[in-house]
Amino acid sequence: MEHQIEVVEVREFLTYFYWGRHPEDKMMDMRLGGGTYAIHKNGKALVIDSMTRPGQGVWVKDYLARTHQVAQFTLVSSHWHVDHIIDNQAYADCVIIGHKHTREKMLEKKAVFEAGEYSDYDPFEVVPPNLVFEGSLELWVDDIKVELEEYLVHEKGHLGVYLPEQKIFIANDILEDPLWFFDFGFASAETQMAELERLKAQDVDYIFPCHCAIATIKKGGFSKSLIDANISYLKKMVARAADQNFTSMTAADVLQDELDAGVVEWWEPYADVHELNKAEILKMKAL
Ligand SMILES: [Zn+2]
Repeated sequence: MEHQIEVVEVREFLTYFYWGRHPEDKMMDMRLGGGTYAIHKNGKALVIDSMTRPGQGVWVKDYLARTHQVAQFTLVSSHWHVDHIIDNQAYADCVIIGHKHTREKMLEKKAVFEAGEYSDYDPFEVVPPNLVFEGSLELWVDDIKVELEEYLVHEKGHLGVYLPEQKIFIANDILEDPLWFFDFGFASAETQMAELERLKAQDVDYIFPCHCAIATIKKGGFSKSLIDANISYLKKMVARAADQNFTSMTAADVLQDELDAGVVEWWEPYADVHELNKAEILKMKAL
């Protein structure tokens, strides 16, 4: 494979697969960096998302089979964005759980995805979830209780993965380090803020996002201060939208406190996401 996957054993039962940060890559998701998680115990695994390049999902599956003797796989597709579903075909013979909207969206875009005509992604075979739900779903990986919960943040039908006994929340793209991607087309900024507050009220000690600095994962994950940082970023962006210098405002101007406190860590390719977010805020204000 072109890029090596880095593996972090977060816990005995939880592994992070990082595709790395590649500032020169043509694909934004490769520039931003990110990874996926698997919860595994006694030969069973719940894999969350199938990564961002064709072949990476197969790699993760083979790795878990080889190193943890996993024979029974279940996949969760957290949302339909391509960097989360590109290698679902590796799990075509498994139960693939997702939100109803995720299945609909993948089928709607199937022809475009498979022709390689979507954004900067390579063509890939579309394998949508074959077990869908809305709201929340409880399941077990051996004796580990897992709650899949829908949050109206970043994308419609976005699922977070909560392990109540371990107080772990796998956020996927609900939270991001250093800042998150706005889309107010399916839910208002106020609704998304309220959803982040709802998440904050959960009994969570350790947070694991998809797109983040791997060093923080190696140190044991993020705390709830990441939720505060993401809320604060949205609040400040909304509050400053009418300022004269809004369009020239850098992410560092908005995130200075969180960066100084070390809650989030700056990564230059996120300057592009910040520009897109300013455009999304102005679009919202114009409506
Ligand atoms: Zn993503």
